[in-house]
Amino acid sequence: MMESFMDTNGLKRRVLIVDDEFINREILGNILSTQYEVTYAENGKEALEKLTDRSLRFSLILLDLLMPVMDGFEVIEKIEGDENLKNIPVIVMTSEKDAEVKSIKLGASDFITKPFDMPEVILARCERIIRLYEDNSIIKAAEKDDLTGLFTREFFIEYIHQIEIYDHDKALDAICLNIDHFHMLNETHGRKVGDEVLKNTARILMDIFHDGSIGCRSDADNFYVCAYHREDYSNFFDELNEELAKISRIPKIRFRIGICRNVDISQPVEIWFDHAKLACDRIRGDYSKQIFFYSKELNDADLYHERLINDIDKAIENHELMVYFQPKYGIQGEKNVLKSAEALIRWRHSELGMISPGDFVPLFESNGLIQKVDHFVWDEAARKIREWKDTLGQSVPVSVNVSRIDIYDTELENRLSKLLETNALTPKDMYLEITESAYSENADRLIEAVEHLREKGFKIEIDDFGSGYSSLNMITTIPIDVLKMDMSFIRNMNKDEKSLKLIEIVIGIAKFLDVPVVAEGVEEENQVDTLKKMGCDLIQGYYFSKPLPAEDFAELIKKEIEAGCI
Ligand code: C2E
Ligand code: MG
Ligand code: MG
Repeated sequence: MMESFMDTNGLKRRVLIVDDEFINREILGNILSTQYEVTYAENGKEALEKLTDRSLRFSLILLDLLMPVMDGFEVIEKIEGDENLKNIPVIVMTSEKDAEVKSIKLGASDFITKPFDMPEVILARCERIIRLYEDNSIIKAAEKDDLTGLFTREFFIEYIHQIEIYDHDKALDAICLNIDHFHMLNETHGRKVGDEVLKNTARILMDIFHDGSIGCRSDADNFYVCAYHREDYSNFFDELNEELAKISRIPKIRFRIGICRNVDISQPVEIWFDHAKLACDRIRGDYSKQIFFYSKELNDADLYHERLINDIDKAIENHELMVYFQPKYGIQGEKNVLKSAEALIRWRHSELGMISPGDFVPLFESNGLIQKVDHFVWDEAARKIREWKDTLGQSVPVSVNVSRIDIYDTELENRLSKLLETNALTPKDMYLEITESAYSENADRLIEAVEHLREKGFKIEIDDFGSGYSSLNMITTIPIDVLKMDMSFIRNMNKDEKSLKLIEIVIGIAKFLDVPVVAEGVEEENQVDTLKKMGCDLIQGYYFSKPLPAEDFAELIKKEIEAGCI
């Protein structure tokens, strides 16, 4: 282990002397400055200011106990209660015997008595304590990850902390690497293959970053690297992909990388890597990007997300959430007729105004909160259907969205059945939209859930069909009732021949399965005409109506009843 007053780069460690008497600071300062960088404070308050200045990193505090403004006892208490400071050892300086005991009990590491001992004794004591603390904090963290041989997260963070204390002139980058769909890889190819991939990833990573960088496996398939700053990551990336191709014999492996460039050393090391991870998480599911850099904006977006997460319960309580209804029209008859509707969530936030589902649905899907929203929508939709039946004498079936997380919930079937019972409805009144991407997550559970739901009479619509790569697999293994074509086909149908051809194929698949097909996002008359000719059954889109508040939708039902278009 390294000498305590000098690190391997030859930079001195820093100690803080806190004493209200000038003469004491002078004597101690003279002794210690032969080996250490010395910073001074005249009282506890000033000491805390110096300690929280993150550009100064202290290896030791020498603390007088009796001082004006804030005494030494209070300083120890504050240090002990601060995650960032509590690992700095404190030596108290005192002439009173009982104060020594009290301060050691409070958490001081050692004491020296006044008047001061011989300089060599003081230096030896300081050195011993610093070494003890540094060795201990490094040893405390179990060093290596058994599987990959990389450091563990705890050790890694501690190690960077130590390097950074002495060498903070060099700019550093924090890098986070994650393997896409690793759990799927484990499931499909077995743990052994999964382990092999992790080992190879670790090796490749450390081969590429050989210039004194250090790396760890943070958890499961998350890797962190702390590297000297570089402007250009394109070479690194090419190299990574090249190496990757060599080990990608079996499954197709894809990495995602988030980088926090030129980390702000005034922030704790954990934050650097939180930022890198944030950048990495940001491109989860976005197949157009493999590398993403952390930025202030990204952090702001993260804070915004945090706010939404914190506010959702209150929003439900305060009726900030509302359900809108968008009609689906049948277009194959003589007249276009109102056939059904989709329930869509809306959030009118008391301070942020209207928030688009695009902002919170994916976020809540990723952390499970979407279930609360979905349950709210299902309850609300069921209540409204009942109300319309009672007041208008008739309603249309309303589809509700069912998220991936709802599918995992084994209570799903019960909950929906109870909901219908409570509102005296049948499964013919409420359809379920399941997005195609739920299939790739856990196909077995999805198949099971869909089978049970259909046994109970529920109709299953496949939402966003054609948006992912599981489309064909899905419809050949899952019995479905309606196919909803992904909106992107419609968006491009006027632009290119290929989209038109794809729409034809999707309609063909629906015909083959003998289920109706819905086109979403239809805005123009010529699109309706083309889709009608192609045999598309239903249309949901602004051409007929935007999603409407419940009262307006009731009006629409009324109007269509009167016009005989329902
Ligand atoms: P989705 O389920 O595919 O819903 C259709 C989306 O297309 C809705 O967006 C709707 O307003 C929009 N849309 C319909 N016609 C048109 C059109 O002609 N032009 C354009 N540009 N857009 C059209 P919305 O309401 O913003 O919802 C977006 C997505 O958020 C939904 O896509 C769905 O995935 C999710 N979502 C909405 N409500 C819920 C909910 O209650 N639960 C869950 N889990 N997800 C929901
Ligand atoms: Mg939907
Ligand atoms: Mg959809």
